[in-house]
Amino acid sequence: MKKYRVGILGATGTVGQRFIQLLEGHPQFEVTALAASDRSAGKPYAEACAWKLNGAIPESVREIVVVPIEPPLDCDIVFSSLPSSVARETEEAFARAGYPVISNSSSYRMDEDVPLLIAEVNPDHVDLIPEQQKKRGFGKGFIVTNPNCAVVSFAPPLAAIHRKFGIESAVVTTMQAISGAGYPGVASMDIVDNVVPYIAGEEPKVETEAQKILGTLTNGAIEKADFAVSAQCFRVNVLDGHTCAVRVNLAEKATLEDIVAAMKEFPSLGLHSSPARFIDVLDEPSRPQPRLDRDSGNGMTITVGRFFPDTVFDYRFVALSHNTVRGAAGSAILNAELLIDRRMI
Ligand code: NAP
Repeated sequence: MKKYRVGILGATGTVGQRFIQLLEGHPQFEVTALAASDRSAGKPYAEACAWKLNGAIPESVREIVVVPIEPPLDCDIVFSSLPSSVARETEEAFARAGYPVISNSSSYRMDEDVPLLIAEVNPDHVDLIPEQQKKRGFGKGFIVTNPNCAVVSFAPPLAAIHRKFGIESAVVTTMQAISGAGYPGVASMDIVDNVVPYIAGEEPKVETEAQKILGTLTNGAIEKADFAVSAQCFRVNVLDGHTCAVRVNLAEKATLEDIVAAMKEFPSLGLHSSPARFIDVLDEPSRPQPRLDRDSGNGMTITVGRFFPDTVFDYRFVALSHNTVRGAAGSAILNAELLIDRRMI
């Protein structure tokens, strides 16, 4: 199997560390370049990075010297986990320099020529890439994005319902983990013994991204799915794993059994990072829970449960996923595997 050399922008951060952990021993990728801010540039990775994940920093990256976030970078593919404040300019510079850029940042997610990918849900949206390259004069470089880490919890179950019965509207209440804010993130004085009903800039993302992901690609453009999402986003005292309480109105009638069957039937992909089950339905009344379910499928499974008819909407349920794995680095790696499979890289 061909090995691609990968570089990570924002390699010292919460998502950057997860990239390094997940890429260790990956059959298709080898980490060859690490980039971060001026604070880290020039130092060996092990010195620049305040490692916060279980286990030690992989030996293979400890001595790699961190470089600034500018091309050229010694790699074939760029994974980006930069703050959106610097991502837009930097990711464009890399795409223009000929690199495939696979980004976790929000900067390009809603641009009409940029795929917003969940590999299992809308893999056909990679067909936007040639259009993007032509329009932006990127040559062989391009930008592909993953969704917001809360959206990735509930967009797949919505997709399962939408494909069969149509969705008219959805109300989503998110309970988002502390690691979603990066490091050092939320001050302990603010989050211990507390729930914070505000995450800057989050609700507009949660209200708009699913419609693009569930949209249809026709004649080189995505027609967004036509339903409204109303969202309230909360930061909760959980380390990893975003939980979403969802209520939906359907376009067509469906029984509770139909809805649950649609979840169970949603196929996974046969790629290296694909979980055995993409959407796992739990019957226990107290699940899903972040501590118990976030690592399902190596953090790549979306766990759902608590399906019930609702008193105001048609149905309600709860969806959960690991925010730095399925919500960030793991999905980006899966997207890279998909792009290789589709011969886009
Ligand atoms: P983080 O822990 O704050 O890490 C940020 C990284 O970017 C660090 O490597 C930092 O380098 C680097 N950086 C910051 N400012 C920079 C600058 N001006 N120039 C160059 N490098 C700079 O953040 P994170 O949680 O990993 O998030 C990274 C991105 O992923 C954000 O866009 C975020 O919205 C998105 N995301 C995060 C999650 C999550 O669960 N955390 C999920 C999905 C998407 P230094 O260490 O050198 O400062």
